[in-house]
Amino acid sequence: MSNQSPEQSPSIILDGGNSIRPQKRIFIGLLIATCCLLAILLGVLWYVPYVGLTNIHPDLPLILGMFFGLLSLVAVGGVLFLILTILLGRDLFFSKRLRGIVVKIIFPLMVLVGKIFGVSKVKVQRSFIEINNNLVLAQHLHATPDKLLLLMPHCLQFHECPVRITGNVVNCKRCGKCHIKGLVEISEKYHVGLAVATGGTLARRIVIEKRPQVIIAVACERDLTSGIQDSYPLPVYGITNKRPHGPCYDTQVDLDRVEEAVKVFLNVQPEAQPEAQPVAAPASEARWQSQTH
Ligand code: SF4
Repeated sequence: MSNQSPEQSPSIILDGGNSIRPQKRIFIGLLIATCCLLAILLGVLWYVPYVGLTNIHPDLPLILGMFFGLLSLVAVGGVLFLILTILLGRDLFFSKRLRGIVVKIIFPLMVLVGKIFGVSKVKVQRSFIEINNNLVLAQHLHATPDKLLLLMPHCLQFHECPVRITGNVVNCKRCGKCHIKGLVEISEKYHVGLAVATGGTLARRIVIEKRPQVIIAVACERDLTSGIQDSYPLPVYGITNKRPHGPCYDTQVDLDRVEEAVKVFLNVQPEAQPEAQPVAAPASEARWQSQTH
């Protein structure tokens, strides 16, 4: 199943080896821009009533300035902390809470700031998914197979396939015309749950029924973003689908990436390489050695 080269570790496949990939660069850039805008806004908020405040009490401008300064420091500190967690890929004290702040506050802000700087929504969504994945991986979560769910979109199924797989994916005949076959094989190999949803409502129902600890979800940027937000605090590792035939039609998924994510969350250790056997000396050399001793 896997065509992963031996030198590629799961983390490299899953997060690009913590290198500053374009998606991360967009997010970090927008974060810094937001921070600068916030600092400017706080500065203006402090400066405008400066004269009026002096009339009330001579110390008020200083007190307000200190308060806004503290607020700016907290924002800058939080952003630096987030950037550090993203770059190191390690849980620095509270990456679970950090993910909550990213999901609930920072992402909507990023969309707004992205608009100001001409960054398209889909690019911000992509970068949000990648940052979310980094924070989920940083938590080093481990689930039992029955608590790990692979949640797939219906558009992965071949458009002419007559089999109904939304109720039960096991109905798939494994003809190989679409990636559902590979997903069923991964699900059986690792004994993890696999469900196919036709939309957000069904996906939510599946999650409520199965009550997983971790979800590996495949969808387009828009659906993944809303799925990650809706499911919070449930950790969702998102993988965007490939759309060689356009959106919502015979889409595909990187099966290696799905399998590596499954291995990471099940804590499956990489298979040990067979130990190298000592190479027998060529017959001529052995003969020479026996003659010299
Ligand atoms: S692999 Fe399964 S779902 Fe895909 S076309 Fe074949 S039978 Fe249908």
